[in-house]
Amino acid sequence: MAKKKDEEYCSFCGAPRSQTNLMLEGINALICDECARRAGEVIEEALHKANQSAAEKLTKEALPHPIEIKDFLDSYVIGQEDAKRFLSVAVYNHYKRLLQNDDKDGVEIEKSNIIMVGSTGTGKTLLARTIAKMLHVPFAVVDATVLTEAGYVGEDIESILTRLLQAADYDVKQAERGIVFIDEIDKIARKSDNPSITRDVSGEGVQQGLLKLLEGSVVNVPPQGGRKHPEQKMIPVDTKHILFICAGAFDGIEKKIAQRLNTRMVGYTAGLQNKKIDRENMLRYIRPQDLKSYGLIPEIIGRLPILTHLEPLDRTALRNIMTEPKNAITKQYEKLFAMDGIKLSFTPDMLDFVVDKAVEFKLGARGLRSIVETIMMDAMFTMPSGKKKTLVVDKAYAEAHLAVDELLQED
Ligand code: ADP
Repeated sequence: MAKKKDEEYCSFCGAPRSQTNLMLEGINALICDECARRAGEVIEEALHKANQSAAEKLTKEALPHPIEIKDFLDSYVIGQEDAKRFLSVAVYNHYKRLLQNDDKDGVEIEKSNIIMVGSTGTGKTLLARTIAKMLHVPFAVVDATVLTEAGYVGEDIESILTRLLQAADYDVKQAERGIVFIDEIDKIARKSDNPSITRDVSGEGVQQGLLKLLEGSVVNVPPQGGRKHPEQKMIPVDTKHILFICAGAFDGIEKKIAQRLNTRMVGYTAGLQNKKIDRENMLRYIRPQDLKSYGLIPEIIGRLPILTHLEPLDRTALRNIMTEPKNAITKQYEKLFAMDGIKLSFTPDMLDFVVDKAVEFKLGARGLRSIVETIMMDAMFTMPSGKKKTLVVDKAYAEAHLAVDELLQED
Protein backbone atom coordinates (compact mmCIF):
# COMPACT_ATOMS: atom_id res chain seq x y z
CA MET A 1 0.00 0.00 0.00
CA ALA A 2 1.47 3.34 -1.03
CA LYS A 3 1.84 5.78 1.84
CA LYS A 4 0.38 9.25 1.43
CA LYS A 5 2.85 12.00 2.19
CA ASP A 6 0.65 14.07 4.47
CA GLU A 7 -0.79 11.06 6.36
CA GLU A 8 0.77 9.82 9.66
CA TYR A 9 1.28 6.11 10.26
CA CYS A 10 1.63 3.89 13.32
CA SER A 11 5.33 3.04 13.66
CA PHE A 12 4.42 -0.49 14.76
CA CYS A 13 1.71 -1.77 12.41
CA GLY A 14 1.80 0.92 9.76
CA ALA A 15 -1.90 1.76 10.03
CA PRO A 16 -2.74 5.29 8.82
CA ARG A 17 -4.05 7.75 11.43
CA SER A 18 -7.37 7.98 9.55
CA GLN A 19 -8.01 4.28 10.22
CA THR A 20 -7.28 4.33 13.96
CA ASN A 21 -9.30 5.57 16.91
CA LEU A 22 -6.34 7.20 18.54
CA MET A 23 -2.69 7.80 17.69
CA LEU A 24 -0.20 8.43 20.50
CA GLU A 25 2.92 10.41 19.72
CA GLY A 26 6.40 9.66 21.00
CA ILE A 27 9.60 11.56 20.21
CA ASN A 28 10.23 9.92 16.88
CA ALA A 29 7.40 7.46 16.66
CA LEU A 30 3.67 7.00 16.68
CA ILE A 31 1.64 4.16 18.12
CA CYS A 32 -2.01 3.43 17.39
CA ASP A 33 -4.52 2.43 20.06
CA GLU A 34 -4.63 -1.17 18.87
CA CYS A 35 -0.83 -1.62 19.11
CA ALA A 36 -0.77 0.11 22.50
CA ARG A 37 -3.46 -2.30 23.77
CA ARG A 38 -1.54 -5.32 22.48
CA ALA A 39 1.66 -4.03 24.05
CA GLY A 40 -0.23 -3.75 27.35
CA GLU A 41 -1.29 -7.39 27.11
CA VAL A 42 2.24 -8.56 26.34
CA ILE A 43 3.59 -6.63 29.33
CA GLU A 44 0.91 -8.03 31.63
CA GLU A 45 1.68 -11.59 30.57
CA ALA A 46 5.43 -11.08 31.04
CA LEU A 47 4.91 -9.60 34.50
CA HIS A 48 2.60 -12.44 35.47
CA LYS A 49 5.27 -14.97 34.46
CA ALA A 50 7.92 -13.02 36.35
CA ASN A 51 5.72 -12.99 39.45
CA GLN A 52 5.15 -16.70 39.18
CA SER A 53 8.82 -17.49 38.99
CA ALA A 54 9.44 -15.11 41.89
CA ALA A 55 6.96 -17.12 43.92
CA GLU A 56 8.62 -20.36 42.90
CA LYS A 57 12.01 -18.98 43.85
CA LEU A 58 10.69 -18.30 47.30
CA THR A 59 10.37 -21.97 47.94
CA LYS A 60 13.51 -23.05 46.14
CA GLU A 61 16.10 -20.54 47.20
CA ALA A 62 14.74 -18.26 49.82
CA LEU A 63 12.63 -20.56 51.95
CA PRO A 64 12.89 -18.93 55.37
CA HIS A 65 14.24 -21.04 58.22
CA PRO A 66 12.04 -21.79 61.22
CA ILE A 67 13.74 -19.08 63.30
CA GLU A 68 13.07 -16.51 60.60
CA ILE A 69 9.45 -17.61 60.31
CA LYS A 70 9.05 -17.25 64.05
CA ASP A 71 10.69 -13.80 64.01
CA PHE A 72 8.20 -12.72 61.38
CA LEU A 73 5.31 -14.10 63.43
CA ASP A 74 6.66 -12.25 66.47
CA SER A 75 6.20 -8.94 64.75
CA TYR A 76 2.49 -9.55 64.25
CA VAL A 77 1.38 -11.95 66.97
CA ILE A 78 1.87 -11.45 70.70
CA GLY A 79 2.85 -14.42 72.89
CA GLN A 80 1.86 -17.95 71.83
CA GLU A 81 5.46 -19.14 71.90
CA ASP A 82 4.65 -22.85 71.65
CA ALA A 83 2.25 -22.45 68.76
CA LYS A 84 4.72 -20.24 66.91
CA ARG A 85 7.55 -22.76 67.24
CA PHE A 86 5.38 -25.67 66.15
CA LEU A 87 4.00 -23.73 63.21
CA SER A 88 7.39 -22.44 62.08
CA VAL A 89 8.84 -25.93 62.00
CA ALA A 90 5.76 -27.49 60.41
CA VAL A 91 5.56 -24.87 57.69
CA TYR A 92 9.29 -25.08 56.99
CA ASN A 93 9.09 -28.85 56.66
CA HIS A 94 5.99 -28.62 54.53
CA TYR A 95 7.63 -26.38 51.96
CA LYS A 96 10.84 -28.38 52.10
CA ARG A 97 8.74 -31.40 51.27
CA LEU A 98 7.43 -29.56 48.24
CA LEU A 99 10.99 -29.21 47.05
CA GLN A 100 12.00 -32.81 47.39
CA ASN A 101 12.84 -34.31 44.02
CA ASP A 102 10.38 -37.08 44.42
CA ASP A 103 11.30 -40.22 46.23
CA LYS A 104 14.12 -41.75 44.26
CA ASP A 105 15.68 -42.94 47.49
CA GLY A 106 12.34 -44.29 48.67
CA VAL A 107 12.10 -41.74 51.47
CA GLU A 108 8.98 -39.73 51.04
CA ILE A 109 8.48 -36.96 53.55
CA GLU A 110 4.88 -37.13 54.67
CA LYS A 111 2.63 -34.15 54.69
CA SER A 112 2.23 -32.54 58.08
CA ASN A 113 -1.06 -30.74 58.41
CA ILE A 114 -1.59 -28.86 61.62
CA ILE A 115 -4.28 -28.61 64.27
CA MET A 116 -4.37 -25.74 66.76
CA VAL A 117 -6.48 -25.82 69.88
CA GLY A 118 -7.25 -22.64 71.79
CA SER A 119 -10.06 -20.33 72.86
CA THR A 120 -11.58 -18.02 70.33
CA GLY A 121 -9.76 -14.74 69.76
CA THR A 122 -6.33 -15.94 70.86
CA GLY A 123 -4.68 -15.56 67.47
CA LYS A 124 -5.20 -18.85 65.60
CA THR A 125 -6.38 -17.25 62.37
CA LEU A 126 -3.88 -14.45 62.73
CA LEU A 127 -0.98 -16.93 62.95
CA ALA A 128 -2.05 -18.81 59.84
CA ARG A 129 -2.75 -15.63 57.90
CA THR A 130 0.62 -14.16 58.86
CA ILE A 131 2.47 -17.24 57.66
CA ALA A 132 0.67 -17.15 54.32
CA LYS A 133 1.57 -13.47 54.03
CA MET A 134 5.21 -14.18 54.68
CA LEU A 135 5.40 -16.95 52.09
CA HIS A 136 3.26 -15.16 49.49
CA VAL A 137 1.09 -18.20 49.00
CA PRO A 138 -2.68 -18.18 48.45
CA PHE A 139 -4.60 -18.40 51.70
CA ALA A 140 -8.23 -19.25 52.37
CA VAL A 141 -10.20 -19.31 55.60
CA VAL A 142 -13.19 -21.62 55.79
CA ASP A 143 -15.60 -22.38 58.55
CA ALA A 144 -16.19 -26.07 59.17
CA THR A 145 -19.67 -25.40 60.58
CA VAL A 146 -21.14 -24.69 57.13
CA LEU A 147 -19.86 -27.94 55.66
CA THR A 148 -22.17 -30.89 55.22
CA GLU A 149 -22.05 -34.16 53.38
CA ALA A 150 -22.97 -33.99 49.70
CA GLY A 151 -26.73 -34.02 49.30
CA TYR A 152 -27.49 -32.16 52.53
CA VAL A 153 -28.23 -28.47 53.05
CA GLY A 154 -24.99 -26.55 53.45
CA GLU A 155 -21.77 -26.41 51.51
CA ASP A 156 -20.01 -29.36 49.92
CA ILE A 157 -16.55 -30.14 51.24
CA GLU A 158 -15.06 -29.25 47.84
CA SER A 159 -16.16 -25.64 48.33
CA ILE A 160 -13.17 -25.29 50.67
CA LEU A 161 -10.97 -25.43 47.60
CA THR A 162 -13.16 -22.98 45.71
CA ARG A 163 -12.10 -20.33 48.22
CA LEU A 164 -8.46 -21.22 47.72
CA LEU A 165 -8.82 -21.05 43.93
CA GLN A 166 -10.40 -17.64 44.27
CA ALA A 167 -7.57 -16.49 46.53
CA ALA A 168 -5.13 -17.68 43.85
CA ASP A 169 -7.00 -15.87 41.08
CA TYR A 170 -7.88 -19.26 39.62
CA ASP A 171 -4.21 -20.08 39.07
CA VAL A 172 -4.45 -23.80 39.86
CA LYS A 173 -0.68 -24.28 40.22
CA GLN A 174 -0.49 -21.53 42.82
CA ALA A 175 -3.57 -22.80 44.65
CA GLU A 176 -1.99 -26.24 44.88
CA ARG A 177 0.79 -24.80 47.07
CA GLY A 178 -1.49 -22.69 49.19
CA ILE A 179 -2.63 -22.80 52.79
CA VAL A 180 -6.21 -23.55 53.87
CA PHE A 181 -7.30 -22.58 57.35
CA ILE A 182 -10.29 -24.59 58.56
CA ASP A 183 -11.82 -22.90 61.56
CA GLU A 184 -14.18 -24.46 64.11
CA ILE A 185 -13.05 -27.98 63.32
CA ASP A 186 -14.36 -28.95 66.78
CA LYS A 187 -17.91 -28.30 65.58
CA ILE A 188 -17.78 -31.33 63.29
CA ALA A 189 -16.82 -33.65 66.12
CA ARG A 190 -18.92 -36.76 66.45
CA LYS A 191 -21.68 -36.02 68.88
CA SER A 192 -21.42 -39.31 70.71
CA ASP A 193 -18.41 -41.43 71.44
CA ASN A 194 -20.24 -44.37 69.96
CA PRO A 195 -19.45 -44.43 66.23
CA SER A 196 -22.35 -44.22 63.79
CA ILE A 197 -25.38 -45.49 65.62
CA THR A 198 -27.42 -43.15 63.48
CA ARG A 199 -26.34 -40.95 60.58
CA ASP A 200 -24.57 -37.87 61.77
CA VAL A 201 -25.00 -35.39 58.94
CA SER A 202 -22.79 -32.62 60.15
CA GLY A 203 -20.26 -34.64 62.09
CA GLU A 204 -18.68 -37.88 61.07
CA GLY A 205 -19.77 -37.67 57.43
CA VAL A 206 -18.03 -34.34 57.03
CA GLN A 207 -14.93 -35.67 58.75
CA GLN A 208 -14.86 -38.56 56.29
CA GLY A 209 -15.19 -36.08 53.43
CA LEU A 210 -12.39 -33.95 54.78
CA LEU A 211 -10.10 -36.93 54.96
CA LYS A 212 -9.57 -37.19 51.26
CA LEU A 213 -8.67 -33.50 51.08
CA LEU A 214 -6.23 -33.72 53.96
CA GLU A 215 -4.42 -36.79 52.75
CA GLY A 216 -3.92 -35.50 49.24
CA SER A 217 -5.98 -36.39 46.23
CA VAL A 218 -7.27 -34.82 43.05
CA VAL A 219 -10.58 -33.16 43.79
CA ASN A 220 -13.01 -31.71 41.27
CA VAL A 221 -13.72 -28.19 42.44
CA PRO A 222 -16.70 -26.10 41.37
CA PRO A 223 -15.07 -22.76 40.40
CA GLN A 224 -18.06 -20.72 41.58
CA GLY A 225 -18.67 -22.88 44.63
CA GLY A 226 -22.08 -23.95 45.91
CA ARG A 227 -24.66 -25.99 44.10
CA LYS A 228 -26.35 -23.10 42.38
CA HIS A 229 -24.40 -23.44 39.17
CA PRO A 230 -24.80 -27.08 38.13
CA GLU A 231 -23.56 -26.25 34.62
CA GLN A 232 -20.14 -24.98 35.77
CA LYS A 233 -17.09 -26.86 34.57
CA MET A 234 -15.20 -28.48 37.43
CA ILE A 235 -11.52 -27.71 37.92
CA PRO A 236 -9.35 -30.60 39.12
CA VAL A 237 -7.13 -29.57 42.03
CA ASP A 238 -4.48 -31.78 43.60
CA THR A 239 -4.41 -31.30 47.36
CA LYS A 240 -1.14 -33.19 47.83
CA HIS A 241 0.87 -30.04 48.54
CA ILE A 242 -1.83 -27.89 50.10
CA LEU A 243 -1.14 -27.23 53.76
CA PHE A 244 -4.22 -27.54 55.93
CA ILE A 245 -4.23 -25.76 59.27
CA CYS A 246 -7.26 -26.70 61.35
CA ALA A 247 -8.30 -24.85 64.47
CA GLY A 248 -10.94 -25.00 67.12
CA ALA A 249 -11.76 -23.93 70.66
CA PHE A 250 -12.75 -27.47 71.72
CA ASP A 251 -14.78 -26.13 74.63
CA GLY A 252 -14.67 -28.51 77.55
CA ILE A 253 -11.73 -30.55 76.29
CA GLU A 254 -9.91 -29.63 79.52
CA LYS A 255 -12.13 -32.17 81.28
CA LYS A 256 -11.04 -34.93 78.89
CA ILE A 257 -7.41 -33.97 79.42
CA ALA A 258 -7.86 -33.95 83.18
CA GLN A 259 -9.56 -37.35 83.07
CA ARG A 260 -6.69 -38.81 81.11
CA LEU A 261 -4.08 -37.28 83.39
CA ASN A 262 -5.94 -38.49 86.47
CA THR A 263 -6.13 -42.03 85.20
CA ARG A 264 -2.43 -42.00 84.64
CA MET A 265 -1.81 -40.47 88.00
CA VAL A 266 -3.12 -43.55 89.73
CA GLY A 267 0.09 -45.23 88.61
CA TYR A 268 3.50 -44.94 90.16
CA THR A 269 4.20 -41.46 88.74
CA ALA A 270 1.26 -40.00 90.64
CA GLY A 271 3.23 -37.79 93.01
CA LEU A 272 5.43 -36.43 90.28
CA GLN A 273 2.56 -35.61 87.92
CA ASN A 274 0.54 -33.87 90.58
CA LYS A 275 3.27 -31.41 91.33
CA LYS A 276 3.84 -30.40 87.76
CA ILE A 277 0.31 -29.95 86.50
CA ASP A 278 -0.73 -26.40 85.72
CA ARG A 279 -4.45 -26.57 86.44
CA GLU A 280 -5.06 -23.13 84.98
CA ASN A 281 -3.98 -24.13 81.53
CA MET A 282 -4.78 -27.76 80.90
CA LEU A 283 -4.55 -27.26 77.15
CA ARG A 284 -0.78 -27.44 77.31
CA TYR A 285 -1.11 -31.17 78.06
CA ILE A 286 -3.29 -31.86 75.06
CA ARG A 287 -2.58 -35.07 73.19
CA PRO A 288 -4.14 -36.64 70.11
CA GLN A 289 -6.16 -39.07 72.23
CA ASP A 290 -8.00 -36.12 73.81
CA LEU A 291 -9.16 -35.05 70.35
CA LYS A 292 -10.44 -38.58 69.87
CA SER A 293 -12.39 -38.50 73.14
CA TYR A 294 -13.81 -35.18 71.97
CA GLY A 295 -15.18 -36.80 68.82
CA LEU A 296 -12.67 -36.43 66.02
CA ILE A 297 -12.27 -39.70 64.14
CA PRO A 298 -8.82 -41.31 64.42
CA GLU A 299 -8.24 -41.06 60.65
CA ILE A 300 -8.61 -37.27 60.79
CA ILE A 301 -6.34 -37.04 63.81
CA GLY A 302 -3.78 -39.13 61.95
CA ARG A 303 -3.87 -36.64 59.10
CA LEU A 304 -3.23 -33.71 61.43
CA PRO A 305 0.03 -34.87 63.01
CA ILE A 306 1.12 -31.47 64.32
CA LEU A 307 -0.96 -30.68 67.38
CA THR A 308 -0.39 -27.43 69.23
CA HIS A 309 -2.27 -25.19 71.63
CA LEU A 310 -2.75 -21.49 72.19
CA GLU A 311 -2.57 -19.88 75.60
CA PRO A 312 -5.40 -17.75 76.94
CA LEU A 313 -4.47 -14.06 76.63
CA ASP A 314 -3.80 -12.40 79.96
CA ARG A 315 -3.96 -8.66 80.68
CA THR A 316 -0.35 -8.05 79.73
CA ALA A 317 -0.85 -9.81 76.41
CA LEU A 318 -3.99 -7.78 75.68
CA ARG A 319 -2.16 -4.58 76.54
CA ASN A 320 0.74 -5.50 74.24
CA ILE A 321 -1.59 -6.43 71.42
CA MET A 322 -2.77 -2.83 71.33
CA THR A 323 0.66 -1.31 70.84
CA GLU A 324 3.30 -3.82 69.78
CA PRO A 325 2.38 -5.67 66.59
CA LYS A 326 3.44 -4.07 63.30
CA ASN A 327 -0.15 -3.18 62.57
CA ALA A 328 -1.27 -2.65 66.17
CA ILE A 329 -4.61 -0.91 66.66
CA THR A 330 -3.07 2.26 68.08
CA LYS A 331 -0.67 2.53 65.16
CA GLN A 332 -3.56 2.20 62.74
CA TYR A 333 -5.51 5.03 64.35
CA GLU A 334 -2.45 7.24 64.52
CA LYS A 335 -1.97 6.71 60.81
CA LEU A 336 -5.63 7.41 60.02
CA PHE A 337 -5.49 10.71 61.89
CA ALA A 338 -2.10 11.65 60.47
CA MET A 339 -3.67 11.50 57.02
CA ASP A 340 -5.79 14.48 58.12
CA GLY A 341 -2.74 16.19 59.57
CA ILE A 342 -3.78 15.39 63.15
CA LYS A 343 -1.29 14.12 65.72
CA LEU A 344 -3.04 11.47 67.77
CA SER A 345 -1.68 9.84 70.90
CA PHE A 346 -2.97 7.46 73.55
CA THR A 347 -1.96 7.65 77.20
CA PRO A 348 -0.98 4.49 79.10
CA ASP A 349 -3.95 4.81 81.47
CA MET A 350 -6.30 4.90 78.49
CA LEU A 351 -4.78 1.66 77.17
CA ASP A 352 -5.19 0.04 80.60
CA PHE A 353 -8.79 1.22 80.65
CA VAL A 354 -9.48 -0.46 77.29
CA VAL A 355 -7.95 -3.71 78.58
CA ASP A 356 -10.17 -3.47 81.69
CA LYS A 357 -13.25 -3.13 79.51
CA ALA A 358 -12.24 -5.98 77.20
CA VAL A 359 -11.78 -8.22 80.24
CA GLU A 360 -14.98 -6.96 81.89
CA PHE A 361 -17.09 -7.57 78.78
CA LYS A 362 -15.27 -10.89 78.19
CA LEU A 363 -14.46 -9.74 74.66
CA GLY A 364 -10.83 -10.84 74.53
CA ALA A 365 -8.50 -9.49 71.88
CA ARG A 366 -11.28 -9.18 69.36
CA GLY A 367 -13.04 -6.67 71.63
CA LEU A 368 -10.08 -4.30 71.84
CA ARG A 369 -10.72 -2.92 68.39
CA SER A 370 -14.45 -2.41 68.87
CA ILE A 371 -13.89 -0.61 72.18
CA VAL A 372 -11.28 1.72 70.69
CA GLU A 373 -13.50 2.25 67.66
CA THR A 374 -16.38 3.38 69.90
CA ILE A 375 -14.13 5.72 71.84
CA MET A 376 -12.70 7.25 68.67
CA MET A 377 -15.95 7.55 66.72
CA ASP A 378 -16.74 11.09 67.81
CA ALA A 379 -13.29 12.41 66.99
CA MET A 380 -13.22 10.59 63.66
CA PHE A 381 -16.53 12.25 62.78
CA THR A 382 -15.74 15.82 63.75
CA MET A 383 -11.99 16.34 63.61
CA PRO A 384 -11.40 16.09 59.83
CA SER A 385 -13.54 19.25 59.43
CA GLY A 386 -12.18 21.04 62.51
CA LYS A 387 -9.12 23.17 63.21
CA LYS A 388 -7.62 21.18 66.10
CA LYS A 389 -4.45 19.39 65.04
CA THR A 390 -3.67 17.30 68.12
CA LEU A 391 -5.66 14.84 70.16
CA VAL A 392 -4.48 13.15 73.32
CA VAL A 393 -6.80 10.30 74.23
CA ASP A 394 -6.53 9.67 77.95
CA LYS A 395 -8.61 7.64 80.38
CA ALA A 396 -11.07 10.47 81.08
CA TYR A 397 -11.67 10.97 77.36
CA ALA A 398 -12.14 7.23 76.88
CA GLU A 399 -14.56 6.96 79.81
CA ALA A 400 -16.63 9.86 78.56
CA HIS A 401 -16.90 8.50 75.06
CA LEU A 402 -17.49 4.89 75.96
CA ALA A 403 -20.20 5.90 78.47
CA VAL A 404 -22.17 7.72 75.77
CA ASP A 405 -22.19 4.59 73.70
CA GLU A 406 -23.28 2.39 76.59
CA LEU A 407 -26.18 4.76 77.26
CA LEU A 408 -27.19 4.51 73.64
CA GLN A 409 -27.13 0.73 73.82
CA GLU A 410 -29.51 0.73 76.75
CA ASP A 411 -32.16 2.68 74.82
P1 ADP B 1 -9.01 -16.95 66.64
O1 ADP B 1 -8.77 -17.41 65.24
O2 ADP B 1 -8.12 -17.61 67.64
O3 ADP B 1 -10.45 -17.00 67.07
P2 ADP B 1 -8.06 -14.43 65.64
O4 ADP B 1 -6.71 -14.83 65.19
O5 ADP B 1 -9.09 -14.26 64.58
O6 ADP B 1 -8.62 -15.42 66.74
O7 ADP B 1 -7.94 -13.10 66.50
C1 ADP B 1 -8.88 -12.08 66.46
C2 ADP B 1 -8.20 -10.73 66.49
O8 ADP B 1 -7.65 -10.52 67.78
C3 ADP B 1 -7.05 -10.63 65.52
O9 ADP B 1 -7.41 -10.03 64.32
C4 ADP B 1 -6.03 -9.78 66.24
O10 ADP B 1 -6.31 -8.42 66.00
C5 ADP B 1 -6.31 -10.02 67.69
N1 ADP B 1 -5.42 -11.00 68.30
C6 ADP B 1 -5.80 -12.19 68.87
N2 ADP B 1 -4.75 -12.81 69.40
C7 ADP B 1 -3.67 -12.06 69.16
C8 ADP B 1 -2.28 -12.18 69.46
N3 ADP B 1 -1.80 -13.25 70.14
N4 ADP B 1 -1.46 -11.19 69.06
C9 ADP B 1 -1.93 -10.12 68.38
N5 ADP B 1 -3.22 -9.94 68.08
C10 ADP B 1 -4.10 -10.89 68.47
